Amino acid sequence: MSPLTKSLRQLAVEDLYSKTCVCGAAKLSGQSFCHPCFRALPPRMRNALYVACSITYADAWDEARDYLRIEAGRIR
Ligand SMILES: [Zn+2]
Repeated sequence: MSPLTKSLRQLAVEDLYSKTCVCGAAKLSGQSFCHPCFRALPPRMRNALYVACSITYADAWDEARDYLRIEAGRIR
């Protein structure tokens, strides 16, 4: 496993348990994003965040974060 993959997994898990969303708003620990961010995601990306495997979760989280920044404009 590459260091990049490992660090993304760590980042995704740390973010999952944090209480701050990537947009800066408050969120619940154990939820990927705050409600407005989560609602801004396409259904495919929302569903991908529910998978149990942490490797797949990290990829799904990373893609969703990119989407929120680039497509939804929720991260500045
Ligand atoms: Zn948010």
